[in-house]
Amino acid sequence: MKKILVDDVVMQEACNIADGVYAPLKGFTGKDDFESIATHFRLTDGRIWAMPIILDITREQKEEIGDNDFIIENREGKQFYISKPSIYKIDRDRMAQALYGTTDKKHPGVARLYGLKEYFVGGNVDRVVGREFKNTYPYYKTPAEMKEIFKKHAWTHIVAFQTRNPPHRSHEFLQKRALAQVDGLLIQPVIGPKKEGDIKDEYIIGAYNILIERYYKKDTVELSTFHTYMRYAGPREAVFHAQVRKNFGCTHMIIGRDHAGVGNYYGTYDAQNIFKRFREDELCIKIFKYNNVCYCKKCENMTPDGTCPHTDDDKVFLSGTELRRRLIEKEEIPDKFMRKEVVAYLESRKSIFVD
Ligand SMILES: [Zn+2]
Repeated sequence: MKKILVDDVVMQEACNIADGVYAPLKGFTGKDDFESIATHFRLTDGRIWAMPIILDITREQKEEIGDNDFIIENREGKQFYISKPSIYKIDRDRMAQALYGTTDKKHPGVARLYGLKEYFVGGNVDRVVGREFKNTYPYYKTPAEMKEIFKKHAWTHIVAFQTRNPPHRSHEFLQKRALAQVDGLLIQPVIGPKKEGDIKDEYIIGAYNILIERYYKKDTVELSTFHTYMRYAGPREAVFHAQVRKNFGCTHMIIGRDHAGVGNYYGTYDAQNIFKRFREDELCIKIFKYNNVCYCKKCENMTPDGTCPHTDDDKVFLSGTELRRRLIEKEEIPDKFMRKEVVAYLESRKSIFVD
């Protein structure tokens, strides 16, 4: 059996497939499904799926494998079995345009697509007995485990919150607004490769633990992780994120403005409007479409965008860059923007940023 050494990202994607995080997918995306996903947001059988799950290989690896089943393996010797492989190439310009709406290589998702190896492989993924790769991150739960936890809570309506940041007051506001309409909240940070200057995963988790303990009613919140890389595909990624949360047992999901966006590639509400394409009964998850909220000094209240007559100067808002600067220099961060306990926690830790 031929073995191909793969990186952590590919290994984790295979694990997601095997765990049912990417249901209904049973394997890496083949050529026809890739085309169909990019064009229609659907698999060739018509079911909704928004992002291809890619296994990329070199020309040499392609020649080695031929048409045969093979093994992907990481440096620790953990494996997955890839059966019925189909090897293909894509037109990267056309696919970047379809998936990301741009071929601009300054877009991190597009840059990643262009940086992948020459060939892609579709094929079913199975665990290899004795050499199983498992996601052992302490906060990770498989979809089956997560559903079991929801069942124990007797929650039937669960809203998911996707994040890659420590909690802001605005996030807390939106989460509680949603929580008031359902039984439970799943806060699920994306864990994976990050951009320089992002806050490290462990500190996002740590900050949330503090917030949940002090400011959320007991037994209304679960904190768990979703392990993948950010595509920054904006609206398309919002659909992908929603399908994944459905697989974890959530019935609702919060989609804010510019969900999973980057730069100015997507319109402010594209990630909400995209859901109009799908019937609710085929999405199997309902979307809470929320505007941004900020504390307004004149209203003396958290106010959703576009609901009060005051200007941006009246709003307590820090950009990501400004928040980072103040955390590093230990300058004041308004309590109306981020809870003081969260700020104190982040400031008490050394090197919280990815470098
Ligand atoms: Zn106001």
